[in-house]
Amino acid sequence: MLESAGFEAYAVGGCVRDSLLGKVPTDYDVTSSAAPDEMKAVFKNEHVIETGIKHGTLTVLINKNPIEITTFRVDKEYLDNRHPSKVEFARSLKEDLARRDFTVNALAYSQKTGIIDLFGGAFDLEKGIIRCVGDSEKRFDEDALRIMRGLRFASVLGFEIEEKTSAAIKEKRELLKNVSAERLSSELIKLLCGKNAAKILLEYSDVLSVFIPELSALKGFEQHHFRHDKDVLGHTAAVIDNIPPKPVLRLAAFFHDIAKPDSFSIDESKTGHFYGHAPLGAEKAEAILSRLRFDNETKKAVCELIRHHEDRFEPSPKAIKRVLGKIGPSLYDDLLTLMYADDLGKKPEYQNPKSFYDEYRLIAKKIVEEGECFSLKKLAVGGSDLISLGISPGPEMGRILNALLEKVINGELSNEKEKLIEEIKKGCL
Ligand code: ATP
Ligand code: MG
Repeated sequence: MLESAGFEAYAVGGCVRDSLLGKVPTDYDVTSSAAPDEMKAVFKNEHVIETGIKHGTLTVLINKNPIEITTFRVDKEYLDNRHPSKVEFARSLKEDLARRDFTVNALAYSQKTGIIDLFGGAFDLEKGIIRCVGDSEKRFDEDALRIMRGLRFASVLGFEIEEKTSAAIKEKRELLKNVSAERLSSELIKLLCGKNAAKILLEYSDVLSVFIPELSALKGFEQHHFRHDKDVLGHTAAVIDNIPPKPVLRLAAFFHDIAKPDSFSIDESKTGHFYGHAPLGAEKAEAILSRLRFDNETKKAVCELIRHHEDRFEPSPKAIKRVLGKIGPSLYDDLLTLMYADDLGKKPEYQNPKSFYDEYRLIAKKIVEEGECFSLKKLAVGGSDLISLGISPGPEMGRILNALLEKVINGELSNEKEKLIEEIKKGCL
């Protein structure tokens, strides 16, 4: 439509990059010579949302698909390593592509012209290279978020970071202090879920340490333990590598040993110990995730996993019911996944096989499927039953309910209302 109205228009950025990689793009951005008012005129019969009209961006819904269309523009004078002080509309596609962060993100395409590649992006895409468009240091000075974007794309795409770009990322890392927590964490989570997350973490931990200072103590921290052949950072990277790319799991892996340096001790036989590092790690992770403005649900799940990652329990229904009661069935599965990945980060002779954890999963599955009682929620009596027996709400009620639950889990009582009430009436709980 833009072309028929006499303007230039190109698909640009991520959608071109992903198409050339053979992936289906998640969203489509278009860049055009049309000024905002001209775009509005072209799409006057379409559903248009003025998402960022000041910056020249309109969203047009075509068959319900949102397409973001932006007027060719250049970003002027970054004063705070974050926001351009003004944007100026540009006359040519070339200027618009020159403001983009990496060569692989500076490709444009239209049916008329085919791929337009002014900065060698197609070559870098082919070779798997993340390289800044133009002078790296200047580009990071303009917008420090690009430092994290560079690491994120390298991790997600499994690309190498070109030498000068890499040197500039390290050189300019302190600028990340000027980037908002929300933007850092949204890049961090994508980075952690990328296929090369472990590699990037090992090479660029000093960069991430700028906004997660707790990380710096892990690097080079030797464990002095027969089960380990890596320092804490190396072990952490290995655990990330061995856990599925789900945000909660990758975050839990990233922070599971964050408190090891704080809880280190060494005994007479020169063996290192990290007593209490799991609960302390959960506390530290909570503080970090809060600072980075992660949502409460993610925070809670990640911290629970970290708190319990060292718990050892028998593969018996009783023991497993206690754990299910403590953390719930869905986190229970994630906990076993973390424990297995943690094993894979140790010396091969100290790793439990997958079948070891499968047994734990199977027992829990049966408990859940058969509707067995493992928590107060599933107990056949509740607060209102106790009130009708004359017990008033408060600590006493909680104590009685927990004592009943314990007996049910131990198999001393069956989870039936009459039986439980009888037991309460005996008065010896
Ligand atoms: P994805 O959508 O998978 O995160 P993307 O490359 O589409 O990747 P977006 O954040 O959607 O990333 O940005 C679209 C395009 O805008 C990028 O491909 C890039 O050309 C440009 N761009 C985005 N952020 C920046 C930035 N901070 N500096 C320079 N160019 C940027
Ligand atoms: Mg995009």
